[in-house]
Amino acid sequence: MTTVDLPLLPLGRGTDRGSERGVECPGDLPAASDPDLVARARAAKEALGERVFVLGHHYQRDEVIQFADVTGDSFKLARDAAGRPDAEFIVFCGVHFMAESADILTAPHQQVVLPDLAAGCSMADMARLPQVEAAWRALADAGVQDDVVPVTYMNSSADIKAFCGRNGGVVCTSSNAEVALEWAFEQKGAGSKVLFLPDQHLGRNTAVLQMGLSLDDCVVWNPLLPGGGLTEQQLRDARMILWKGHCSVHGRFSPDVVHELRATIPDVQILVHPECRHEVVLEADLVGSTEFIIKTVEAAPPGSTWAIGTELNLVQRLAKAHPEQRILFLDKDVCYCSTMNRIDLPHFVWAMESLVAGTVPNRIEVDPDTERDALVALQRMLDLPGKSHKD
Ligand code: SF4
Repeated sequence: MTTVDLPLLPLGRGTDRGSERGVECPGDLPAASDPDLVARARAAKEALGERVFVLGHHYQRDEVIQFADVTGDSFKLARDAAGRPDAEFIVFCGVHFMAESADILTAPHQQVVLPDLAAGCSMADMARLPQVEAAWRALADAGVQDDVVPVTYMNSSADIKAFCGRNGGVVCTSSNAEVALEWAFEQKGAGSKVLFLPDQHLGRNTAVLQMGLSLDDCVVWNPLLPGGGLTEQQLRDARMILWKGHCSVHGRFSPDVVHELRATIPDVQILVHPECRHEVVLEADLVGSTEFIIKTVEAAPPGSTWAIGTELNLVQRLAKAHPEQRILFLDKDVCYCSTMNRIDLPHFVWAMESLVAGTVPNRIEVDPDTERDALVALQRMLDLPGKSHKD
């Protein structure tokens, strides 16, 4: 039986302390209009010195990124934090699953802080452990569970990573998804299947465009439907069982805008992230991870024109850093990642000043059992051959 476990709270209503969704920031948040916010953040950072290490995800606002000791994608940041064991506090300017990963990869004495607990990720929220366990049981009922290797994208909660660790699976990033899938398909011989969590688009784009599987090899498991909305025969026939999750930011890009841009700007190059829908990726000139997007723009000759399909804070930062190029956002509407944007200067100042005052606010702590199993899946990723592990 499928567990119907709606992960998302109605906007602005209700809280769930267990998952930290909708939990408000405790304490006195400085007013966003306070003209001294930058000076206060700077003073708090100076006061904490080497005791604090500030991580800034690429999709964060400039007002926060200016205080980051390092910037990067989620996996790089977690590894950077692990490389600074002298830092007592890791302030993660990103979203909840990233802070969990940092807690898993850092030493026990390091405390990870998320400046706003409402900074979740809609994609990660689309795969909850009870739902995934229900799907796993359905795979057993269909007689295929022994052939299935679960693979989860980095953008998933710690308990989903732990599920993969317990069940012979692996974590992947958008850079190494192909290598991770190759590894997964080798684990169970000829009839191997993959359950790919939680981003159907990264799973489909990797399987079809990089590994040569067909769209017919892929089925989509909908956790809100009995039996995932699939027959046992469909499960037996499939090679990729894609979880019905997506990124609400990357899912917005459409082939129509690509066509319009190509009609009006003939030399435009379309550069997108593999979290975009398959039909958008098919229309793109280049597809790759956040790091790939940054490196591609940095290496491009002056005068190049790019329309980029990824989070808007990053696209704007690239446009500012590369005035010699024409950089456009691949959407007509302004659309930031709303949860990434929860981390603003007032929350950052509040978190840093709390640390200075001797209180550790919004600590993200993964329980030891989950951490142990999640580390198994993360270690399998680190042991994959070849490609880098940046997403
Ligand atoms: S950009 Fe997408 S995947 Fe990244 S945090 Fe926002 S919703 Fe999640």
